Amino acid sequence: MSESPTATSFADFKLNKQLLNAVAEAGFEHPTPVQEQTIPLLLAGHDVLGIAQTGTGKTAAFGLPLLMKVKYAQGIHPRALILAPTRELAMQLETHLKRLAIYTDLRIFAIYGGLGPKTQIETIAKGVDILIATPGRLLELYLKGDLVLKELKTLVLDEADKMMDMGFMPQIRRILEVIPSKRQNVLFSATMPDKVATLSEEFLEFPVRVEVTPSATSAQTVSQTLYRVPNLLTKINLLDYLLLDWDTFHRVMIFCRTKEHADNVASFLTRKVVGEARAIHGNKGQNVRINAMEAFRNGELRFLVATDVAARGIDVPQVSHVINFDVPLVYDDYVHRIGRTGRAAHTGAAITFANDAEMYHMERIAELIHQEIPELPLPPEVKIMPTTFDEQQGMDREVDERRRRQDPDFQGAFHEKKVPLQKDIDKRTGLPYVEGPNRSQKGKKKRPSPGKSQSPAAKAAAKLRGSRRK
Ligand code: AMP
Repeated sequence: MSESPTATSFADFKLNKQLLNAVAEAGFEHPTPVQEQTIPLLLAGHDVLGIAQTGTGKTAAFGLPLLMKVKYAQGIHPRALILAPTRELAMQLETHLKRLAIYTDLRIFAIYGGLGPKTQIETIAKGVDILIATPGRLLELYLKGDLVLKELKTLVLDEADKMMDMGFMPQIRRILEVIPSKRQNVLFSATMPDKVATLSEEFLEFPVRVEVTPSATSAQTVSQTLYRVPNLLTKINLLDYLLLDWDTFHRVMIFCRTKEHADNVASFLTRKVVGEARAIHGNKGQNVRINAMEAFRNGELRFLVATDVAARGIDVPQVSHVINFDVPLVYDDYVHRIGRTGRAAHTGAAITFANDAEMYHMERIAELIHQEIPELPLPPEVKIMPTTFDEQQGMDREVDERRRRQDPDFQGAFHEKKVPLQKDIDKRTGLPYVEGPNRSQKGKKKRPSPGKSQSPAAKAAAKLRGSRRK
């Protein structure tokens, strides 16, 4: 990285020697923009409202001043609390802060659900200086009397937007009621929806706002492209084609909208493409997720397939590519996803596959990040598969619902060609009832009654899926 004579260095902040050594050891040469702005404010005792996504260096931005303040091990009860929406983020925060605190004697510990609380309670009883917690587990241990919060002097809420999305507001309110009111507060969020604005008003005192816009960060470090892909099976073919290039796609995170897609994509990759892939999502046990993340981090696993919630907080250095197999419906998730590549000092690439219905969301996402996402033509080697009847229906329905929301009088294309419900079928003929006086049913194809057997399209889809499996 080129040195500019005016670039801030970590030595410009009034950090102690232990922290400066740890920063150097972590390989951080210069503070990132969010660190440059946040560290002096927090050291001066302000409350900070930070708008920054994962990958910008926000953890060290609030972590270094926090470590300065808490300084050394003291007493039993935590003096700082960091709340995180998911266990993955809690674990990542713990690892990251421990790395920065390596030359101190500070006791940093994360508690989260999904595991029995026994070991966590034992560790807490031995004494913790900085506690990282998911809201549910924190309240659980507090209400059982295993956790004393009256010594808290600093509270950090990380990924506040995700906490709101996951419905943690009541727990957070409850926590705010039971902790000392005199304290320093920090709130970080990738985006600023109304709910987060409300929360920050309740929670921060005269905060100073620090903003690292997603557009700036994603534009600088992540190249984004888009393929318009007609359907699921063609998406699979495109993925297959791209991942053959082992040198370029050496560590890839693939995001799916649903658990089912994540499982299917992972098993497809394991079968067809060289190397194993694993999926992480809400239905996977804690250990499966931890092991998959670890294998991916240390390079044993080339692909990790994830849903948005499961991927929260995963810190994997040097992900070569993020592939959005599906477009996220929560647009902020796009920003979070692409934040997995191009982290801090590295460049990365994000590639999105979008079908016709999803193109609408890509346009909204481009508006959100103030960026054009260039569309690439499908490579000629990628075989275009027919769209199954069910999938086409799903897409039509999605487009219709959207248009209906915009225009309540809209009848909908899907409405016109919908398959009759069982109750619309004339039991005697097995044909749909035809409306209107003079319309004959002559010449119409007889449809099998849905529910009795699989539709031909569903059969074709199942057959195609089966043939890919061989
Ligand atoms: P975060 O946004 O806190 O999740 O950090 C994203 C990644 O950037 C982590 O892998 C950090 O280790 C790394 N990082 C944080 N600060 C810097 C820095 N100043 N220089 C280089 N890498 C950094």
